[in-house]
Amino acid sequence: MILGLFNNYKEYLKSEVWQNRRDYFIWGESCNICYSKATLAHHRNYKNVGNEKRKDILPLCHPCHDDLHYNQKNLFTKKRCNINLLYEYINEIEEINKGSHNTN
Ligand SMILES: [Zn+2]
Ligand SMILES: [Zn+2]
Repeated sequence: MILGLFNNYKEYLKSEVWQNRRDYFIWGESCNICYSKATLAHHRNYKNVGNEKRKDILPLCHPCHDDLHYNQKNLFTKKRCNINLLYEYINEIEEINKGSHNTN
């Protein structure tokens, strides 16, 4: 994580720096799961936080993002995403959750 000026990830997410970067990443993009308008940028990993590349980011809508984090079963019943991609996204979240006890 390259947070630079920011004390932690939460503070970074609230910052204008991130909000501008997020807007840039989701501009004109569709949700990568259900193809409605993308409204947020999900971090696929935290390696480049503070200096994200396009590949670190997954444009999603809010409902799909909530489901991806908290109700993954829902994604398989309602959404139109390529199922292999869906498994890939879910595995990434599990990797992140496993590593969440590390401080960096
Ligand atoms: Zn969606
Ligand atoms: Zn997310």
